[in-house]
Amino acid sequence: MRAELIMIGTELLLGEIVDTNASFLARNLADLGIDVYYKSTVGDNLQRGAGVLAQALGRSDAVIISGGLGPTDDDLTREIVSEVMESPLQEDREALAELEEWFAERYGEAQMPPHNRKQALFPKGSEIIPNPVGTAPGFYLEKDGKMVIALPGVSQELKAMFTATVAPLLARKSLGRILVTRNLHFVGVGESRLAEILADLLREQTNPTLALYASGGIVRVRMAVKARSREEGLAMMAPVEGIIRSRTKDYLFGTDNQSLEEVVAQQLIDKGVTLALAESCTGGLIGHLLTNVPGSSAFLNRGYVVYSNQAKMEDLGVSEATLERYGAVSEECAREMAEGARSRARTDLALAVTGIAGPGGGTDAKPVGLVYISLASAGDTIVQRHLWKGTREQVKNRTALMALRLLWQASVT
Ligand code: ATP
Ligand code: MG
Repeated sequence: MRAELIMIGTELLLGEIVDTNASFLARNLADLGIDVYYKSTVGDNLQRGAGVLAQALGRSDAVIISGGLGPTDDDLTREIVSEVMESPLQEDREALAELEEWFAERYGEAQMPPHNRKQALFPKGSEIIPNPVGTAPGFYLEKDGKMVIALPGVSQELKAMFTATVAPLLARKSLGRILVTRNLHFVGVGESRLAEILADLLREQTNPTLALYASGGIVRVRMAVKARSREEGLAMMAPVEGIIRSRTKDYLFGTDNQSLEEVVAQQLIDKGVTLALAESCTGGLIGHLLTNVPGSSAFLNRGYVVYSNQAKMEDLGVSEATLERYGAVSEECAREMAEGARSRARTDLALAVTGIAGPGGGTDAKPVGLVYISLASAGDTIVQRHLWKGTREQVKNRTALMALRLLWQASVT
């Protein structure tokens, strides 16, 4: 089934409101496996609205209209549909009674404003779509193999009505095929490198289709398949996911709405491992991310936020000689921070970061974005050196992400 959207409202054309209804409808139609090839926006004008609807019906099976169902003279959706579908407007007695009741309940004896009577008018042959959260009902009209669905512009009403009535209706009409999606999340690998690793799969993809997205250091692969049920869709994706997993073990950390900090926290909880943090360029960000996960106090013993040399020495036992000889942003300092945090907190693991977040403070030998990440455990202490580009905030975020990645890698093995 091919559907199309018409968004009605002069305020949309003036840029006064953001068209959130269109993105809601588009996303939900995609989830139902319904193709959407066109979306139009038109002002509150009978002639132009009718023109757009006639064009839409010429190329799509179903047209969903948002807006213009209110009681005022510039609410013209009923008139537009009536004209194009050649179905005269008729008053629906039940809808009128409900409108009157709605006003009586809220305003007592006061009469319904005469203008609102218009909201009980529907093109002949329409089915009414109930509005559980407002006055104006919507409607749908099927004629000559085409379907028009009209919903009010108020987002809360449109969403409620789409979910309760329109989605089930369209699912039936489109032979019950839905779009099933599954996301795989990767860290420590760039988008282009991942595209290389998966090149053959990306080239040959049809069902499921694969798409790559990158944001904030995480790459996401979205798999999508058209199927009769979610179970069937997941079964169709499983072999492809198996191939992807076999090639990307070092990077693939989670699926769907899992975050890296959730995955790491779960691993630490499952293994009964305790952790201390020593943060110098992330200002507590790693602790913040880990403590966003419910239950994190089971593994997180404490976090040191140590910016001055004095704090590094007093709180973690970093030696004065190390700070003098190598500086606070150095492999040696990172190592002593991690080992000091681990012994003072008496935890199984300690994670430390030290770096230059910028924009000032960089030198030729130690430029902005230089970061050391260290993980101390009973066996040994790992130190990684990184050099990031970006703003202060990006350096902090990337450092926290890669520190979590180090923790993730250490606790899978
Ligand atoms: P009403 O009964 O309130 O008049 P209506 O069906 O006539 O509803 P409109 O008059 O077109 O709808 O829009 C009512 C309000 O709904 C707008 O002022 C706006 O706040 C919101 N709205 C309309 N269209 C959209 C849209 N496409 N995306 C987000 N919000 C919208
Ligand atoms: Mg209106």
